[in-house]
Amino acid sequence: MGLLRKIFIPFVGLVLAFCFYSAREDFKPEMLKGKRVIVTGASTGIGEQMAYHLARMGAHVLVTARTEAKLQKIITRCLELGAASAQYVSGSMEDKAFAEHVVKEAEVVLGGLDMLILNHVGNSYFNYFDGDVGHVQKLLKINLLSYMAMTVSALPRLKDSVGSIVVVSSMAGKVGFPFTAPYSATKFALDGFFSSLRQELIIQKVDVSITLCILSFIDTESAMKAASDVAPKEECALEIIKAGALCQWEIYYKYAATKIPLLIRDWAPELLNYLIRRSYNVENLKKNSSV
Ligand code: NAP
Repeated sequence: MGLLRKIFIPFVGLVLAFCFYSAREDFKPEMLKGKRVIVTGASTGIGEQMAYHLARMGAHVLVTARTEAKLQKIITRCLELGAASAQYVSGSMEDKAFAEHVVKEAEVVLGGLDMLILNHVGNSYFNYFDGDVGHVQKLLKINLLSYMAMTVSALPRLKDSVGSIVVVSSMAGKVGFPFTAPYSATKFALDGFFSSLRQELIIQKVDVSITLCILSFIDTESAMKAASDVAPKEECALEIIKAGALCQWEIYYKYAATKIPLLIRDWAPELLNYLIRRSYNVENLKKNSSV
């Protein structure tokens, strides 16, 4: 009986896991050819790189952010890279009406929608929580409520196309890191909302996938101020698109930098929290650094 528990059951588990994962479809760039995709927060960073990957794959790309001049350059580059079409809509996601307008615009200019990539993030600070609840409220509008508003507006079109929603989150949406309390609050909330919505869509047999992306530090301008150990934004952007196209529920990038701490969190939360606190040099905290 002991031998059965120690060897046979884990062995069967491994075989089943292997069969499950190896049966999954492989990603092919052609999967995105001709697909109609919105990428938010695409004027820089990971969003910009996602727009370029989608363009190379021959997708119709609609990018959005506040800075119009940057978006203009990005759509020009997308067309050079082979996008089936490239458009932009500029404005702030603090405004719910703007979030809804972006989806309506996609319906008009793209004639529908296959993938909604929610990636934008409002500026916050990297420091002790300063007690400013107004800032948290503003960040919730940008990082959470606009994601919900766009999802609600996009769902009818995504149902028509059997499409996907991709939500870009962070390790700070799974684990409590210090000095990012407002940002972390918005990212934990994304997990709660979209994981719950995914369950409801499955129960209702609605064929729209939701992919939550758990990222470690990536080498974008905003993150470089807070971290030194960073992963490349180009590769990160590609992994996000692949996961969305394959309808994966969650992706972890970089895998080891995210999965290992999460495994420790589940088995030894105090140890993980201690290790996290140890990894910060509090002396180096700069006033008003952003995340
Ligand atoms: P980023 O370089 O700071 O870019 C943020 C994007 O959001 C920009 O295009 C910005 O454009 C847009 N944006 C900011 N405020 C906005 C507003 N009020 N309305 C509309 N758009 C707004 O960010 P990133 O580092 O690429 O991060 C992308 C995603 O990955 C975020 O969801 C972030 O939380 C997540 N993530 C990043 C890291 C990392 O280390 N970089 C780690 C974990 C998770 P405008 O300023 O032109 O509006």
